[in-house]
Amino acid sequence: MSTPEAKAPITQDVMTVPRKLPEGGPVNIVGLTRDALRDALIAAGTPEKQAKMRVGQIWQWVYQKGVRDFDAMTNLAKTYRAELAEKFVISVPEVVSRQVSADGTRKYLVRIAGGHEVEVVYIPEEDRGTLCISSQVGCTLTCSFCHTGTQKLVRNLTAGEIVGQIMVARDDLGEWPEPGEGSDARPRLLSNIVLMGMGEPLYNFENVRDAMRIAMDGEGISLSRRRITLSTSGVVPEIARTAEEIGCLLAVSFHATTDEIRDRLVPINKRWPIAELLESLRAYPKLSNSERITFEYVMLKGVNDSDDDARRLVRLIAGIPAKINLIPFNEWPGAPYERSDWERIERFADIVYKAGYASPIRTPRGEDIMAACGQLKSATERARKSRAEIAAETGL
Ligand code: SAH
Ligand code: SF4
Repeated sequence: MSTPEAKAPITQDVMTVPRKLPEGGPVNIVGLTRDALRDALIAAGTPEKQAKMRVGQIWQWVYQKGVRDFDAMTNLAKTYRAELAEKFVISVPEVVSRQVSADGTRKYLVRIAGGHEVEVVYIPEEDRGTLCISSQVGCTLTCSFCHTGTQKLVRNLTAGEIVGQIMVARDDLGEWPEPGEGSDARPRLLSNIVLMGMGEPLYNFENVRDAMRIAMDGEGISLSRRRITLSTSGVVPEIARTAEEIGCLLAVSFHATTDEIRDRLVPINKRWPIAELLESLRAYPKLSNSERITFEYVMLKGVNDSDDDARRLVRLIAGIPAKINLIPFNEWPGAPYERSDWERIERFADIVYKAGYASPIRTPRGEDIMAACGQLKSATERARKSRAEIAAETGL
């Protein structure tokens, strides 16, 4: 079925949001790079010599203390605070709903400019708390097992909307330090970030990069780059750039061991097939100075879960420092696949493990609130592809 608003091919239907706000209106500080904030402060009358120091001070209030009101920035002169309040705002996305799973996973639906909604998931674990953030509304790619890929409407999130997701989660977790308390006084509840929510982060490179630089900055959210993992479906030309300009850990949605199957599961494979993807991954650890690449592998019954697949997988990735994350398929209404049986997943994990790779099986979290991997899709986005459309695209 083809309607006028049907999805255009990869990348062509991304409506970008202007990175600068219209002239004259107040500028949102959240998401501005250091340089952009410095320039904006100077344009608003801050003496050039002071601007760099002011950026550091404002960042600490915003990203380390969670302050949203210039008047609370007590190390700035009162008159300067009033000037800032005239020209700037500190704005984060609005939380529309919040669901808490029986296992403690929290899912937030947040509203961004234009009335769009994206989902953000917080997953508490014993030794860490991971926030799964979104980089786009929907996704232009159409992986056949992914709920987000069925959502038509897409726009890139701004850097402010990406960092804003971290900030609203910290609001909800109540983890901003109390006045007078150092920013590292308590263990961080939100200690890790994964770019594994809605969207393909490497199709929104600049905004993701700027947001992650704020997340990693010592005067920003202050998380180590080793606590941030970007997951890509395999946008090969942007992988080296990720190493050089972000330097976080990388996960890749591998999911198949032959081009024939991967073309069907992750259609971007038609553009950048397995051999090209692996070549770019081989260079990543050295370029980014990071240890291992995570290979994500969704377990689909009878599709990609045989012993032969497991053996082919370890042959393909030979020589790449890697961990294989096996993800039992999370079902969603109308999905054209089934989850592999548990014994099958364990047998697959065992073959990979015996070949010398860590092969954890990812426990689905937050299934009762549809917060598990690949289930994200805002219920309010009505535009949805039909089963027939999915079938036509995947050839299944
Ligand atoms: N677009 C990026 C990041 C978001 S998806 C990417 O594709 O890598 C995060 C992970 O969840 C990816 O590995 C994705 O393939 C996987 N995933 C998507 N749908 C899933 C589902 N229904 N069950 C299990 N994993 C799924
Ligand atoms: Fe997009 Fe990732 Fe889902 Fe594929 S798996 S449709 S790239 S969000």
